[in-house]
Amino acid sequence: MTMELDNVDIRILELLQDDGRLSFNDLAKEVGVTTPTVSHRISTLTDLNLIRGFQVDLDTDLLNELTSVMTIDCKPSDVPGLLERFEAFQEVRELFVIDGTRLFAKVTTTDLEHRNRFLERLAQIEQIISYRFGSVTRTVKERPRALIHNGLRLTVDCFFCGKPVVENPVKIKLDGKDHYLCCGSCEKLYRDKYGRIKEASDLEGECGTEGPHDGHDDDHHGH
Ligand SMILES: [Zn+2]
Repeated sequence: MTMELDNVDIRILELLQDDGRLSFNDLAKEVGVTTPTVSHRISTLTDLNLIRGFQVDLDTDLLNELTSVMTIDCKPSDVPGLLERFEAFQEVRELFVIDGTRLFAKVTTTDLEHRNRFLERLAQIEQIISYRFGSVTRTVKERPRALIHNGLRLTVDCFFCGKPVVENPVKIKLDGKDHYLCCGSCEKLYRDKYGRIKEASDLEGECGTEGPHDGHDDDHHGH
């Protein structure tokens, strides 16, 4: 199932993608809604896993680090194994599978020697049939990947099993929030799990600790 995002969601995403430090207040003013609306929308979009986090964007040039891009060709059957290896390399900062058969990676190394050591490690991997490696000599444009436009539709994943909700979605309201499940059995398991988490967090709450969902909200945006 996909959910159409309305103009408020879209405007919030657009502003946040440009500046993740905007406070709920700033966003509310800019969008023309109340602060609780902004807080509620962000919390929903986070629950739906669309907002994955709020990161800092560092200029690697100022750190004198080297960026390289590479494509790797391998047998289709070797893709999963190679992905696991590449994902584990600290130097690999972005990793994509292209057309199901080729890998594309962005690699950051601290200096030339480090880059050479990285390439030596690649030479040990026999599943690599061939690769092309190029050094980035100039970064011209680097923008967050989502293209924000009117009529954005969001795929909803089951809150329990994580698979896309396809047919007969189950929508339940717990603590004033919508939760989406792909089927009746996920709903049952989710209600059980949710009940347990809530019980635990209520107990923690009594000891003065925050609940699991309150983590990023005002801490991050309140300044
Ligand atoms: Zn499910």
